[in-house]
Amino acid sequence: MELYIHIPYCRQKCRYCDFASYAGQDGTMAAYVDALLREADAMAVNTKDIPIKTVFIGGGTPSTLPAELLQKLLSGLHERFHIPAGSEFTSEANPGTLTPEWLDAAISGGVNRLSMGMQASQPELLRTLGRIHTQADVETSVQLARKHGIGNISVDLMFGLPGQTPDMWRESLDAALSLGVEHMSCYGLIPEDGTPLKLDLDAGRLTLPDEADERRMYDDTLRILSAHGFQQYEISNFAKPGRECQHNIGYWTREPYIGLGASAASFLQTKSGGLRLTNPAGIREYIAMADEQAWRRRERVSLLPEDARFESLMLGLRMTRGVSEADFAAMHGLTLDAYCGGILRQQEQHGLLLHQNGRWALTRRGMDVQNAILVEIMEATE
Ligand code: SF4
Repeated sequence: MELYIHIPYCRQKCRYCDFASYAGQDGTMAAYVDALLREADAMAVNTKDIPIKTVFIGGGTPSTLPAELLQKLLSGLHERFHIPAGSEFTSEANPGTLTPEWLDAAISGGVNRLSMGMQASQPELLRTLGRIHTQADVETSVQLARKHGIGNISVDLMFGLPGQTPDMWRESLDAALSLGVEHMSCYGLIPEDGTPLKLDLDAGRLTLPDEADERRMYDDTLRILSAHGFQQYEISNFAKPGRECQHNIGYWTREPYIGLGASAASFLQTKSGGLRLTNPAGIREYIAMADEQAWRRRERVSLLPEDARFESLMLGLRMTRGVSEADFAAMHGLTLDAYCGGILRQQEQHGLLLHQNGRWALTRRGMDVQNAILVEIMEATE
Protein backbone atom coordinates (compact mmCIF):
# COMPACT_ATOMS: atom_id res chain seq x y z
CA MET A 1 0.00 0.00 0.00
CA GLU A 2 1.29 3.45 -0.95
CA LEU A 3 0.20 6.88 0.24
CA TYR A 4 -0.10 10.05 -1.85
CA ILE A 5 -1.00 13.49 -0.49
CA HIS A 6 -1.86 16.34 -2.83
CA ILE A 7 -0.99 19.94 -1.86
CA PRO A 8 -2.71 22.13 -4.47
CA TYR A 9 -1.01 25.47 -3.75
CA CYS A 10 1.46 27.32 -5.97
CA ARG A 11 2.95 30.82 -5.81
CA GLN A 12 2.04 31.38 -9.46
CA LYS A 13 0.43 29.18 -12.10
CA CYS A 14 2.98 28.01 -14.68
CA ARG A 15 1.93 28.67 -18.27
CA TYR A 16 1.86 24.98 -19.27
CA CYS A 17 0.26 23.58 -16.14
CA ASP A 18 -3.12 21.86 -16.07
CA PHE A 19 -2.64 20.13 -12.71
CA ALA A 20 -4.99 20.81 -9.80
CA SER A 21 -2.91 23.69 -8.47
CA TYR A 22 -3.99 27.18 -7.54
CA ALA A 23 -2.30 30.51 -6.84
CA GLY A 24 -3.72 33.05 -4.39
CA GLN A 25 -5.59 30.50 -2.24
CA ASP A 26 -3.18 30.38 0.72
CA GLY A 27 -5.94 31.55 3.07
CA THR A 28 -7.50 28.08 2.85
CA MET A 29 -4.34 26.16 3.80
CA ALA A 30 -5.18 25.54 7.49
CA ALA A 31 -8.68 24.26 6.63
CA TYR A 32 -7.19 22.16 3.83
CA VAL A 33 -4.75 20.39 6.17
CA ASP A 34 -7.65 19.67 8.56
CA ALA A 35 -9.58 18.23 5.62
CA LEU A 36 -6.63 16.02 4.65
CA LEU A 37 -6.50 14.61 8.18
CA ARG A 38 -10.25 13.99 8.13
CA GLU A 39 -9.90 12.08 4.91
CA ALA A 40 -6.93 10.20 6.41
CA ASP A 41 -9.21 9.21 9.34
CA ALA A 42 -11.79 7.85 6.91
CA MET A 43 -9.24 5.94 4.80
CA ALA A 44 -7.30 4.59 7.79
CA VAL A 45 -10.35 2.74 9.18
CA ASN A 46 -9.61 -0.28 6.99
CA THR A 47 -5.90 0.21 6.35
CA LYS A 48 -4.43 1.24 9.72
CA ASP A 49 -2.37 -1.94 10.15
CA ILE A 50 -1.23 -2.32 6.54
CA PRO A 51 2.37 -1.04 6.26
CA ILE A 52 2.72 1.95 3.96
CA LYS A 53 5.62 1.16 1.60
CA THR A 54 6.11 4.68 0.23
CA VAL A 55 4.72 8.16 0.83
CA PHE A 56 4.68 10.92 -1.82
CA ILE A 57 3.60 14.49 -1.15
CA GLY A 58 2.94 16.11 -4.50
CA GLY A 59 1.24 19.13 -5.90
CA GLY A 60 1.01 21.89 -6.55
CA THR A 61 3.98 22.97 -4.48
CA PRO A 62 4.17 21.28 -1.06
CA SER A 63 7.01 23.65 -0.09
CA THR A 64 4.50 26.54 -0.04
CA LEU A 65 2.87 25.06 3.09
CA PRO A 66 4.01 26.93 6.22
CA ALA A 67 6.32 24.77 8.36
CA GLU A 68 3.82 24.48 11.24
CA LEU A 69 1.08 23.19 8.92
CA LEU A 70 3.48 20.72 7.33
CA GLN A 71 4.45 19.51 10.80
CA LYS A 72 0.77 19.08 11.75
CA LEU A 73 0.10 17.17 8.53
CA LEU A 74 3.07 14.83 8.87
CA SER A 75 2.53 13.99 12.52
CA GLY A 76 -1.17 13.45 11.73
CA LEU A 77 -0.27 10.98 8.99
CA HIS A 78 2.05 9.04 11.33
CA GLU A 79 -0.77 8.84 13.92
CA ARG A 80 -3.21 7.44 11.37
CA PHE A 81 -1.09 5.15 9.18
CA HIS A 82 1.59 2.57 9.83
CA ILE A 83 4.60 4.15 8.05
CA PRO A 84 7.65 2.02 8.89
CA ALA A 85 10.88 3.95 9.59
CA GLY A 86 13.05 4.13 6.49
CA SER A 87 10.16 3.92 4.00
CA GLU A 88 10.78 6.07 0.94
CA PHE A 89 9.11 9.37 1.85
CA THR A 90 9.21 11.97 -0.93
CA SER A 91 8.00 15.52 -1.07
CA GLU A 92 7.96 17.72 -4.11
CA ALA A 93 9.49 21.15 -3.50
CA ASN A 94 10.03 24.05 -5.82
CA PRO A 95 13.14 26.21 -5.96
CA GLY A 96 12.26 29.67 -4.79
CA THR A 97 9.93 28.37 -2.05
CA LEU A 98 12.19 26.07 -0.03
CA THR A 99 13.15 27.40 3.44
CA PRO A 100 15.23 26.00 6.32
CA GLU A 101 12.10 25.91 8.53
CA TRP A 102 10.15 23.91 5.96
CA LEU A 103 13.03 21.47 5.56
CA ASP A 104 13.33 21.00 9.33
CA ALA A 105 9.61 20.21 9.58
CA ALA A 106 9.77 17.87 6.57
CA ILE A 107 12.76 15.92 7.83
CA SER A 108 11.46 15.60 11.38
CA GLY A 109 8.19 14.32 9.86
CA GLY A 110 10.01 11.55 7.98
CA VAL A 111 10.68 13.09 4.54
CA ASN A 112 13.90 11.55 3.17
CA ARG A 113 13.65 12.36 -0.54
CA LEU A 114 12.95 15.62 -2.42
CA SER A 115 11.73 16.04 -5.97
CA MET A 116 12.36 19.51 -7.38
CA GLY A 117 11.08 21.17 -10.53
CA MET A 118 14.04 22.61 -12.43
CA GLN A 119 12.66 22.22 -16.00
CA ALA A 120 15.38 24.17 -17.86
CA SER A 121 18.50 26.17 -17.08
CA GLN A 122 17.96 29.09 -19.50
CA PRO A 123 16.16 32.19 -18.16
CA GLU A 124 14.28 32.68 -21.44
CA LEU A 125 12.84 29.15 -21.33
CA LEU A 126 11.91 29.50 -17.65
CA ARG A 127 10.07 32.72 -18.59
CA THR A 128 8.24 30.98 -21.46
CA LEU A 129 7.14 28.31 -18.98
CA GLY A 130 6.12 30.90 -16.36
CA ARG A 131 8.39 29.40 -13.70
CA ILE A 132 9.08 31.63 -10.68
CA HIS A 133 12.71 30.57 -10.17
CA THR A 134 16.14 30.92 -11.76
CA GLN A 135 18.84 28.29 -12.16
CA ALA A 136 20.68 29.97 -9.25
CA ASP A 137 17.58 29.29 -7.07
CA VAL A 138 17.73 25.61 -8.05
CA GLU A 139 21.39 25.42 -7.03
CA THR A 140 20.71 27.20 -3.72
CA SER A 141 17.75 24.90 -2.95
CA VAL A 142 19.73 21.73 -3.65
CA GLN A 143 22.60 22.97 -1.45
CA LEU A 144 20.14 23.88 1.31
CA ALA A 145 18.50 20.44 1.15
CA ARG A 146 21.91 18.73 1.27
CA LYS A 147 22.95 20.88 4.25
CA HIS A 148 19.83 19.68 6.07
CA GLY A 149 20.76 16.07 5.36
CA ILE A 150 18.51 15.10 2.42
CA GLY A 151 20.54 12.39 0.71
CA ASN A 152 18.15 11.59 -2.12
CA ILE A 153 17.17 14.36 -4.56
CA SER A 154 15.44 14.24 -7.92
CA VAL A 155 15.00 17.05 -10.43
CA ASP A 156 12.41 17.34 -13.19
CA LEU A 157 13.45 18.65 -16.60
CA MET A 158 11.40 19.31 -19.74
CA PHE A 159 12.37 18.98 -23.38
CA GLY A 160 10.57 19.85 -26.60
CA LEU A 161 9.92 23.39 -25.31
CA PRO A 162 9.12 26.35 -27.58
CA GLY A 163 12.41 28.03 -28.53
CA GLN A 164 14.53 25.15 -27.19
CA THR A 165 17.33 23.77 -29.37
CA PRO A 166 19.20 20.46 -28.82
CA ASP A 167 22.19 22.55 -27.65
CA MET A 168 20.05 24.25 -25.02
CA TRP A 169 18.72 20.88 -23.88
CA ARG A 170 22.24 19.51 -23.48
CA GLU A 171 23.12 22.63 -21.50
CA SER A 172 20.14 22.00 -19.16
CA LEU A 173 21.18 18.36 -18.72
CA ASP A 174 24.73 19.48 -17.88
CA ALA A 175 23.41 22.01 -15.37
CA ALA A 176 21.26 19.30 -13.73
CA LEU A 177 24.22 16.88 -13.64
CA SER A 178 26.37 19.51 -11.96
CA LEU A 179 23.88 19.54 -9.06
CA GLY A 180 24.99 16.00 -8.17
CA VAL A 181 21.44 14.66 -7.79
CA GLU A 182 20.52 10.97 -7.57
CA HIS A 183 17.50 10.97 -9.91
CA MET A 184 16.20 12.85 -12.94
CA SER A 185 12.82 12.88 -14.63
CA CYS A 186 12.96 14.18 -18.20
CA TYR A 187 9.54 14.80 -19.70
CA GLY A 188 8.63 15.84 -23.22
CA LEU A 189 6.30 18.86 -23.15
CA ILE A 190 2.67 18.01 -23.89
CA PRO A 191 0.84 21.30 -24.55
CA GLU A 192 -2.47 20.93 -22.70
CA ASP A 193 -5.66 22.52 -23.99
CA GLY A 194 -6.68 25.69 -22.23
CA THR A 195 -3.23 26.58 -20.91
CA PRO A 196 -1.71 29.99 -21.85
CA LEU A 197 1.21 28.16 -23.48
CA LYS A 198 -1.11 26.19 -25.77
CA LEU A 199 -2.98 29.38 -26.69
CA ASP A 200 0.36 31.00 -27.66
CA LEU A 201 1.28 27.95 -29.76
CA ASP A 202 -2.12 27.89 -31.47
CA ALA A 203 -1.85 31.60 -32.25
CA GLY A 204 1.65 31.16 -33.71
CA ARG A 205 3.30 33.32 -31.04
CA LEU A 206 5.46 30.34 -30.02
CA THR A 207 6.81 27.41 -32.04
CA LEU A 208 7.74 23.93 -30.91
CA PRO A 209 10.99 22.25 -32.02
CA ASP A 210 10.48 19.92 -34.99
CA GLU A 211 10.16 16.15 -34.54
CA ALA A 212 13.79 15.45 -35.50
CA ASP A 213 15.11 17.91 -32.91
CA GLU A 214 12.79 16.52 -30.24
CA ARG A 215 13.96 12.97 -30.98
CA ARG A 216 17.59 14.16 -30.84
CA MET A 217 16.90 15.66 -27.40
CA TYR A 218 15.52 12.35 -26.13
CA ASP A 219 18.42 10.36 -27.63
CA ASP A 220 20.90 12.82 -26.08
CA THR A 221 19.18 12.30 -22.73
CA LEU A 222 19.75 8.53 -22.88
CA ARG A 223 23.36 8.91 -24.03
CA ILE A 224 24.44 11.69 -21.65
CA LEU A 225 22.73 10.40 -18.53
CA SER A 226 23.99 6.86 -19.12
CA ALA A 227 27.55 8.24 -19.49
CA HIS A 228 27.12 9.84 -16.05
CA GLY A 229 26.02 6.65 -14.30
CA PHE A 230 22.25 7.10 -14.54
CA GLN A 231 20.20 4.09 -15.54
CA GLN A 232 16.97 4.57 -17.41
CA TYR A 233 14.28 2.58 -15.60
CA GLU A 234 11.21 4.13 -17.20
CA ILE A 235 10.49 6.07 -20.39
CA SER A 236 11.09 9.43 -18.64
CA ASN A 237 12.96 8.44 -15.49
CA PHE A 238 16.66 7.93 -14.77
CA ALA A 239 18.39 7.05 -11.52
CA LYS A 240 21.75 6.28 -10.02
CA PRO A 241 21.77 2.54 -9.09
CA GLY A 242 19.39 1.85 -6.21
CA ARG A 243 17.82 5.35 -6.36
CA GLU A 244 14.80 4.54 -8.54
CA CYS A 245 11.60 6.10 -7.21
CA GLN A 246 9.87 3.21 -5.42
CA HIS A 247 6.60 5.13 -5.22
CA ASN A 248 6.35 5.43 -8.99
CA ILE A 249 7.42 1.81 -9.51
CA GLY A 250 4.55 0.84 -7.20
CA TYR A 251 2.18 2.86 -9.38
CA TRP A 252 3.43 1.18 -12.58
CA THR A 253 3.05 -2.27 -10.99
CA ARG A 254 -0.49 -1.53 -9.75
CA GLU A 255 0.33 -1.45 -6.07
CA PRO A 256 -2.80 -0.26 -4.21
CA TYR A 257 -2.61 3.34 -3.00
CA ILE A 258 -4.47 5.83 -0.88
CA GLY A 259 -4.63 9.33 -2.33
CA LEU A 260 -5.58 12.22 -0.04
CA GLY A 261 -6.50 15.73 -1.15
CA ALA A 262 -8.07 17.69 -3.97
CA SER A 263 -8.02 15.73 -7.25
CA ALA A 264 -6.20 12.80 -5.58
CA ALA A 265 -7.20 9.25 -6.48
CA SER A 266 -7.12 6.06 -4.42
CA PHE A 267 -6.76 2.65 -6.00
CA LEU A 268 -7.85 -0.48 -4.20
CA GLN A 269 -7.52 -3.93 -5.70
CA THR A 270 -10.67 -6.03 -5.64
CA LYS A 271 -11.39 -9.61 -6.71
CA SER A 272 -13.13 -8.32 -9.82
CA GLY A 273 -10.33 -5.94 -10.88
CA GLY A 274 -10.10 -2.80 -8.80
CA LEU A 275 -11.81 0.31 -7.53
CA ARG A 276 -10.65 3.86 -8.20
CA LEU A 277 -11.96 6.74 -6.09
CA THR A 278 -11.19 10.29 -7.22
CA ASN A 279 -11.68 13.45 -5.16
CA PRO A 280 -13.03 16.73 -6.54
CA ALA A 281 -10.29 19.00 -7.90
CA GLY A 282 -11.41 22.28 -6.32
CA ILE A 283 -9.94 23.25 -2.92
CA ARG A 284 -13.23 24.54 -1.46
CA GLU A 285 -15.21 21.62 -2.87
CA TYR A 286 -12.73 19.21 -1.29
CA ILE A 287 -12.80 20.98 2.10
CA ALA A 288 -16.62 20.99 2.05
CA MET A 289 -16.68 17.26 1.23
CA ALA A 290 -14.36 16.55 4.18
CA ASP A 291 -16.31 18.84 6.56
CA GLU A 292 -19.52 17.00 5.75
CA GLN A 293 -17.79 13.58 5.66
CA ALA A 294 -19.55 13.25 2.30
CA TRP A 295 -17.11 10.70 0.85
CA ARG A 296 -19.83 9.47 -1.52
CA ARG A 297 -19.13 12.58 -3.61
CA ARG A 298 -15.90 11.03 -4.83
CA GLU A 299 -15.98 9.77 -8.38
CA ARG A 300 -16.12 5.98 -8.17
CA VAL A 301 -14.96 3.75 -11.03
CA SER A 302 -14.92 -0.04 -10.83
CA LEU A 303 -12.30 -1.65 -13.01
CA LEU A 304 -13.37 -4.81 -14.81
CA PRO A 305 -10.86 -7.69 -15.06
CA GLU A 306 -10.16 -6.78 -18.71
CA ASP A 307 -9.47 -3.15 -17.74
CA ALA A 308 -7.09 -4.32 -15.01
CA ARG A 309 -5.17 -6.60 -17.43
CA PHE A 310 -4.75 -3.85 -19.99
CA GLU A 311 -3.68 -1.42 -17.27
CA SER A 312 -0.95 -3.86 -16.16
CA LEU A 313 0.50 -3.87 -19.66
CA MET A 314 0.06 -0.15 -20.26
CA LEU A 315 1.80 0.81 -17.01
CA GLY A 316 4.32 -2.06 -16.95
CA LEU A 317 5.61 -1.37 -20.45
CA ARG A 318 6.60 2.14 -19.35
CA MET A 319 9.41 0.54 -17.34
CA THR A 320 12.59 -0.67 -19.01
CA ARG A 321 12.34 -3.92 -17.03
CA GLY A 322 8.90 -4.41 -18.62
CA VAL A 323 6.11 -6.72 -17.51
CA SER A 324 6.82 -9.94 -15.62
CA GLU A 325 4.86 -12.93 -16.93
CA ALA A 326 4.80 -14.48 -13.44
CA ASP A 327 3.51 -11.27 -11.78
CA PHE A 328 0.88 -10.82 -14.50
CA ALA A 329 -0.42 -14.38 -14.04
CA ALA A 330 -0.46 -14.05 -10.25
CA MET A 331 -2.34 -10.73 -10.39
CA HIS A 332 -4.90 -11.63 -13.07
CA GLY A 333 -5.24 -15.44 -12.92
CA LEU A 334 -4.50 -15.56 -16.65
CA THR A 335 -1.17 -15.94 -18.44
CA LEU A 336 0.15 -13.06 -20.51
CA ASP A 337 0.44 -15.54 -23.35
CA ALA A 338 -3.26 -16.40 -23.17
CA TYR A 339 -4.13 -12.69 -22.90
CA CYS A 340 -2.19 -11.30 -25.85
CA GLY A 341 0.76 -13.61 -26.67
CA GLY A 342 0.15 -13.44 -30.44
CA ILE A 343 0.34 -9.68 -30.65
CA LEU A 344 3.38 -9.53 -28.34
CA ARG A 345 5.30 -11.99 -30.56
CA GLN A 346 4.30 -10.03 -33.66
CA GLN A 347 5.70 -6.80 -32.13
CA GLU A 348 8.84 -8.73 -31.14
CA GLN A 349 9.35 -9.70 -34.80
CA HIS A 350 9.04 -6.01 -35.73
CA GLY A 351 11.82 -5.21 -33.26
CA LEU A 352 9.51 -3.23 -30.98
CA LEU A 353 9.34 -5.62 -28.01
CA LEU A 354 11.93 -7.78 -26.32
CA HIS A 355 11.13 -11.08 -24.57
CA GLN A 356 13.72 -12.31 -22.11
CA ASN A 357 13.96 -13.83 -18.64
CA GLY A 358 10.18 -14.13 -18.35
CA ARG A 359 9.55 -10.45 -19.06
CA TRP A 360 8.25 -8.39 -21.98
CA ALA A 361 9.78 -4.94 -22.48
CA LEU A 362 9.82 -2.21 -25.13
CA THR A 363 12.95 -1.82 -27.24
CA ARG A 364 14.33 1.68 -27.86
CA ARG A 365 12.34 1.81 -31.13
CA GLY A 366 9.30 0.46 -29.32
CA MET A 367 9.43 3.37 -26.85
CA ASP A 368 8.89 5.82 -29.70
CA VAL A 369 5.69 4.05 -30.78
CA GLN A 370 4.46 2.83 -27.42
CA ASN A 371 0.96 4.24 -27.91
CA ALA A 372 0.51 2.48 -31.28
CA ILE A 373 1.59 -0.83 -29.70
CA LEU A 374 -0.93 -0.38 -26.88
CA VAL A 375 -3.71 0.39 -29.36
CA GLU A 376 -2.93 -2.88 -31.19
CA ILE A 377 -3.02 -4.81 -27.92
CA MET A 378 -6.29 -3.15 -26.95
CA GLU A 379 -7.91 -3.96 -30.28
CA ALA A 380 -6.63 -7.55 -30.22
CA THR A 381 -7.98 -8.21 -26.72
CA GLU A 382 -11.40 -6.53 -27.02
S1 SF4 B 1 4.79 24.61 -9.88
FE1 SF4 B 1 4.04 22.70 -10.77
S2 SF4 B 1 1.95 22.44 -10.04
FE2 SF4 B 1 2.54 24.58 -9.66
S3 SF4 B 1 1.76 25.68 -11.40
FE3 SF4 B 1 3.91 25.13 -11.85
S4 SF4 B 1 3.79 23.15 -12.94
FE4 SF4 B 1 1.79 23.53 -11.97
